[in-house]
Amino acid sequence: MTASNVYPTAELQALDSAHYLHPFTDFGALAKEGSRVMVKGDGVWLTDSDGNRYLDGMAGLWCTNVGHGRAEIAEAAHEQMLELAYYNSFFKTSNAPAIRLADKLASIAPAHIERVFFCGSGSEANDTVFRMVRHYWAIKGEPAKQHFISRRNGYHGSTVAAASLGGMKPMHGQGGLIPGISHIPQPYWFGEGGDMSPAEFGLWAARELEREIERIGEENVAAFIAEPIQGAGGVIIPPETYWPEIKRICARHEILLVVDEVICGFGRTGSWFGADTYDVQADLQPIAKGLTSGYLPMGGVMVSGKVASVLDQGGEFYHGYTYSGHPTCAAAALANLAIIERENLVARVRDDIGPYLQSRWAKLGDHPLVGEARMKGLMGALELVPAKPSRSEKFADEGKVGTIARDLSFKNGLIMRAVRDSLILSPPLTLSHDEADQLVALAEKTLNDTWMVLKKDGLVK
Ligand SMILES: *Cc1c(COP(=O)(O)O)cnc(C)c1O
Repeated sequence: MTASNVYPTAELQALDSAHYLHPFTDFGALAKEGSRVMVKGDGVWLTDSDGNRYLDGMAGLWCTNVGHGRAEIAEAAHEQMLELAYYNSFFKTSNAPAIRLADKLASIAPAHIERVFFCGSGSEANDTVFRMVRHYWAIKGEPAKQHFISRRNGYHGSTVAAASLGGMKPMHGQGGLIPGISHIPQPYWFGEGGDMSPAEFGLWAARELEREIERIGEENVAAFIAEPIQGAGGVIIPPETYWPEIKRICARHEILLVVDEVICGFGRTGSWFGADTYDVQADLQPIAKGLTSGYLPMGGVMVSGKVASVLDQGGEFYHGYTYSGHPTCAAAALANLAIIERENLVARVRDDIGPYLQSRWAKLGDHPLVGEARMKGLMGALELVPAKPSRSEKFADEGKVGTIARDLSFKNGLIMRAVRDSLILSPPLTLSHDEADQLVALAEKTLNDTWMVLKKDGLVK
């Protein structure tokens, strides 16, 4: 697989460890190991500075929905930069790409979603949610409604409010937990379902929301926030009973429902939005990632007519970003959405490549190391277990086996990510059938290689 080495990898790695602090990284450990330097992307393929090729099973970081190297997005950004690279949307000003994008988003969103507040990322989107929701209740004359309910092991970003809304304990431990937020159990049947059936467990997990509303007092609860399918938490696909019950509970109580579409939006689950897939109507939908397929950073909060009409009564909302509605990013987003529409990628995930990859992925569940192989749309996970079919027996030193498998997958030329002792997948929506076959073959080889290592180390029988 190694082609000619055109980049001085060792030099880049030395500079990298000397000066570049990476996100979610053990700086000391990476400095010893050296980073992998990516130099080229084309379709679902990536090439590193040593000429190794990888099938990008994570679509960058859940975002490159249209695949790498799309010239028309680059051209749209180029043209916009020459015309008007940047202007802000403060002081009663606006710009054509942001206006067109807001209109486009309103047209693809569920009918009750009418407007959008732009920002630079998913984290900023959720910080915006935090302030916008509290502002909403204050305008409505219910300033006590300040409390957010979210879920353990949910992910909503890395800024202070987003990390606090998220349910990642290690993040909370590093200065990332502000008051006024509580976390209920996640609908993770494989890991936490105990003796319940998936259907029973889905109902139980959803009813935790109702119990929490009662505990906090409905008069104090502002909103519930959740991802349709948890991504960073390990592709947690809720049982079919979960979202209908959440919907029932939200209809019975006067709280806002925030559906975090940062990963599930823009086709990932086989609909434009995850809320469409699960037939729920969000009051607010934070978006990012697939909005531009990662070509430029951009996020937003899509807002229902009900919420927007209240915000209209509230005077100035003291909130915004220098890059809110960035014209070049908006132009890239429009070009990206045009590709998704022209190539029918949403329907393709629902009717074609989705079912095709799902059926092959499910067969990996026969492997002795795999306790569960699950996938919805084009996001999936393989739960690695030491003693199939037990769901409760886990590997000692959680995360070690996942990391071994992840590293072997990279070595085999398939990028998957490890969460605890599972491998997760979220490839570009442009994945061809032939590439799906290659992906599954590489995943199977990775499982076999992992099995051999674990056998040698006595970690499986
Ligand atoms: C990635 C992610 C975010 C944060 O987005 P950034 O662009 O990394 O700030 C928020 N919510 C979900 C569901 C995500 O997956």
